[in-house]
This record gives sequence, structure tokens and C-alpha cells, in this order.
Amino acid sequence: MRPAPRQKVSSFREREERLRKGRDAAQTLRTAFPNAATVNVQLRFLPATAPLHAAQSFMLYPAARAYFSYPCPYGDCDGIYDLSAPAHQALGRKAVAVSGTLECVGVRSRDGLQRQPCGLRVSYTISAQQESAHAST
Ligand SMILES: [Zn+2]
Repeated sequence: MRPAPRQKVSSFREREERLRKGRDAAQTLRTAFPNAATVNVQLRFLPATAPLHAAQSFMLYPAARAYFSYPCPYGDCDGIYDLSAPAHQALGRKAVAVSGTLECVGVRSRDGLQRQPCGLRVSYTISAQQESAHAST
């Protein structure tokens, strides 16, 4: 019998690091989507089990990084929800909300238990407000 590797802290740190790097590498909203005034991201978690996770809401302004990855709310999970595809869909249209659900693909490592897939589902709604089109040069 081999002791399980103690990865709780390192996978959590690794996730933070991935998010930080991704955010640093992202363009600002103003650069990536010049017409976007604001982007609102709403996350509601669909709990298969208790406890409930609080809903989250994010408002992005042009100076913010156009980065749409959010950590799974489980502290022992290394999962990241990547909402860049639906966010880009919302930003590519005019004031249209894009919504759907996504499942966490992370792995949870709880004390005393084997690492197991997380699978926490999130229901997201992303809506972008566009600046009114203007004919600038
Ligand atoms: Zn997760």
C-alpha cells in the first residue's frame, strides 16, 4: 500500500497559477472587442449534493482582461470553467445573452477519499452590451 500523494495544496496552487497566467495573457476587453461596453457573466451552480454554492456575477468593463475562465467553487477541486467560447459568441452579436450549462472537468481530492471527477454543473448566462456603432476612422 502506497500513500496517496498529497496534492491538495499543489493542485490548488497550480489552478491559481493557470488562472493568473491566462488572465495576464489575455487582451483587454477594449482591445479584443472594441465595441463592447460591458460584459456580464452570471454563474449559478447546479448542486447534485449539498452544500449549495452561492451564485456568482461578474461585470467586465473595457479596461478589464477579456478572460472568461472561472475556478470551480470547490476548494479541493482543480477544475476551471472555460466560458471563452460562449463569451465570444455573446460579444460577436448585439446585446444578446448566451446561456447554457457546463460541467466541471476537474478532479477533487478530498482527504481520505480517492481522487474523483468533480462534475459540478454550472448554468451560465453571458450578456454583452455593445457601444452603439459609430463611423470613426
Ligand atoms: Zn470542480
